[in-house]
Amino acid sequence: MPTSSASQTSLLNIDALKAGNAGQPPKYLSYINGQWREATSNKTYSIVNPATGQVIAEVSDCGAQETEIAIKQAAEAFKSWSKTTAKHRSQVLRKWFDLVMAHQSDIAQLMTLECGKPLQESLGEVAYGASFIEWFSEEAKRAYGDIVPAPFTDRKILVQKQAVGVCTAITPWNFPLAMITRKCAPAIAAGCTMVVKPAEATPLTALALAELAEQAGIPKGVFSVVTASEGKIVGEVLTTHPLVRKISFTGSTPVGKLLMKQSADTVKRVSMELGGNAPFIVFDDADIDKALDGAIASKYRNTGQTCVCANRFIVHEAVAESFSNALAERSSMLKVGDGLDEGVQQGPLINDAALEKVKSLVTDAVEKGAKVLTGGQQHALGGNFYQPTVLTDLDDSMAIAQEEIFGPVCPVFTFKTDQQAIEIANSTPYGLAAYFYSQDMNRIWNVVGALDFAMVGINEGIISTELAPFGGMKESGTGREGSKYGLDEYLEVKYLCMGGLTN
Ligand code: ADP
Repeated sequence: MPTSSASQTSLLNIDALKAGNAGQPPKYLSYINGQWREATSNKTYSIVNPATGQVIAEVSDCGAQETEIAIKQAAEAFKSWSKTTAKHRSQVLRKWFDLVMAHQSDIAQLMTLECGKPLQESLGEVAYGASFIEWFSEEAKRAYGDIVPAPFTDRKILVQKQAVGVCTAITPWNFPLAMITRKCAPAIAAGCTMVVKPAEATPLTALALAELAEQAGIPKGVFSVVTASEGKIVGEVLTTHPLVRKISFTGSTPVGKLLMKQSADTVKRVSMELGGNAPFIVFDDADIDKALDGAIASKYRNTGQTCVCANRFIVHEAVAESFSNALAERSSMLKVGDGLDEGVQQGPLINDAALEKVKSLVTDAVEKGAKVLTGGQQHALGGNFYQPTVLTDLDDSMAIAQEEIFGPVCPVFTFKTDQQAIEIANSTPYGLAAYFYSQDMNRIWNVVGALDFAMVGINEGIISTELAPFGGMKESGTGREGSKYGLDEYLEVKYLCMGGLTN
């Protein structure tokens, strides 16, 4: 495979990228086993700024062969990395965290260029993504085992935790940094090695992270990034290769199911963080102003393109009209534009297909009788921009009642009784995040118990933090990321029975 270690321009100097198409777009290579590598085929593919439609970079288009090399080298690196002390791994991760934060501004601009996220949100994501590195640099030292009282006097029973082995991650474009660090930081902390395939649309942030990993002293083969224009080929190798012991995936439910099936033959451990269909319930005793703040924050984060964005507003009929009108007013005031422009709160959708999906969901609802309180159209800016939209008068026959919207559209449904609200909320195969607003303590605990969702925001619309377990139930996935639970995803429990002891 051709390698080119020295010639690549740093991704942390983003002027070349911001210059747009003025010259030849710069080319970036995959980072495999500590080397910057061309694809074996020498092929590259284009990275497009979703706000402008311009090609901003060319990236190595890798396939099965490069993936196999990355895995084999990760297995080689595992032999020594898994034997390092937790304290050493902790120190290296801490250095990585410091470097990411030192480059917060550059990485955020890079992220906005490739995924369209408003700059303020990108800055927030860099801090959020880095927080997983910081957290797991601390947790690395806490992979405690147990000593269990033995049932016989001649035995000792011990439990120790040890690194799983070579791990792989397949990540989405909507959090180009945080979805990688949330997987790689605990893996590396545990003593595992990691091969990442970032989303095809957002490999640049992943490669910038690799540059900083190298600077932080993460040894070759411990963290590799294989870029590819198509997930399928690389994904097949990552999920079927016998040297890979674990796959962690964040993305759509259909792809997650496929990866679980592919992983079955070699019985890999899997963590799956899949689609959501978050209900956002507003009870009649809610503080409506706070509910509106939460609704705007939850719905419009990343232009509605997160798996925990409020997807269905379920509002008590007594407050539905006033809530919907206020939501429409606040939605219409959001500033839409290129995420790099001052004050922009809503960026473009990631690509044409995302735009078409949002358009078709809204058209379907309107054709079946929905009322548009604001928005409802592609934005005047054209391209992938869509107007913040609020819809009422909805029913179950509309696709928007079932599907994950992944765009800036608020459908408002109504209910009469608590039981009805819970039934509507749970009437989905998904079980990721749910939100509700109420001030009644009994109601709060009853609803918490009844919701089939793994994360619940109570009078709060933004719940993600590295300190809490992120994950889903039902078809939203398996496993938890972040928090004290996140490290266990990368650790095997080994039971030791020491016999033949004399007193
Ligand atoms: P999204 O709709 O957010 O793009 P996807 O599930 O399609 O969600 O993509 C998430 C990640 O999964 C991306 O990195 C993508 O390249 C990868 N991916 C998509 N299809 C496959 C596949 N068949 N095998 C492996 N990875 C895939």
